[in-house]
Amino acid sequence: MNHYKHILLTVDFSDHGKQVSHKAVELAQANQAKLSIVHVVENLPITDAAYGPIPFDVDLTQEWLDASRQRLKSLGEKLDIPEQRQWLEMGSAKLEIVRVAEENGVDLIVVGSHGRHGLALLLGSTANGVLHHAKCDVLAVRLQDD
Ligand code: AMP
Repeated sequence: MNHYKHILLTVDFSDHGKQVSHKAVELAQANQAKLSIVHVVENLPITDAAYGPIPFDVDLTQEWLDASRQRLKSLGEKLDIPEQRQWLEMGSAKLEIVRVAEENGVDLIVVGSHGRHGLALLLGSTANGVLHHAKCDVLAVRLQDD
């Protein structure tokens, strides 16, 4: 059986994410694989039907990026993932995850299935999107509701 060599853990910083991290770390150890981590800051075009687009100012985006970088860094430290394998991207989560995977020779992407609720569900699931676009294997970790 072929072993995975490079595993990409996708994180949305939800509480459920711990289950996904745990599985990715376990798999990386069992396969003696490199482990990378990615978080994508998504720019949701929020629109109110009555008032049109609600302006999101640039400073807010920068603060959001900084906070995400900090969270990614501390999770990376916790999971022993060096900074050069911590990816913080902006855009569509599914497309950015797939791009990072392709550009870095990842052969397994680990995503949670049902990590988020509400608006995100209406807009479609990241796990599904990654499954449809990825050229490598994808492991969907079934998340248990609290
Ligand atoms: P979703 O299908 O959108 O509820 O998300 C399921 C899983 O996709 C999460 O458990 C994460 O593994 C991954 N994911 C969701 N959003 C992001 C994001 N912004 N950046 C990286 N991974 C994400």
